[in-house]
Amino acid sequence: MDKKIPSKENLIETVKQVLSSRLKVNSQEELARLVLKRLRRENKDYAVSPLRAKRIALSIPEIEVKAKTRKAVKLQKISDCPICHSGIEPLEVKNLAEKRVLVGYQCTGCAYQSDLEAFMPMKYAFLWKEAKL
Ligand SMILES: [Zn+2]
Repeated sequence: MDKKIPSKENLIETVKQVLSSRLKVNSQEELARLVLKRLRRENKDYAVSPLRAKRIALSIPEIEVKAKTRKAVKLQKISDCPICHSGIEPLEVKNLAEKRVLVGYQCTGCAYQSDLEAFMPMKYAFLWKEAKL
C-alpha cells in the first residue's frame, strides 16, 4: 500500500494540536508518533518521519525546540545555498544550559534545508510556549 505524505499545512496544524494538548514532548520520535496517531484518524496511510516532524516544529513560533545537550557544538558554517546560492539562515535552538546551538541551515531562496544530525546525533524536546506563561 502506498504511503501518503501529509501537506505542510496539515502537519503544522497537527503538530500544534499535539503540543498544545500535551505541552511537552520529549523526543522527535515521540512527536512523530503522536502526530501520526492524529493524522491516521483522517487517513491510515499517512507517514511522517521524526526528522520531518522536528523540522515542522522548528518552523512554528508557538513551539520551543530544545536540544538535550549541554554542549554548544561548533560546526562548519556555510555561507550560501548549495542549490541556488541564496543566503542561508541558521536554525538554532537552546540547549539545557540555555545556550543557543546550531542544529541546521535553511535557504532563504528555495526549499533547501540541511540538518546537522548526520554529523551529530541530537536529542530534542518540544515545548508549547504558552504553558510557561
Ligand atoms: Zn537555495
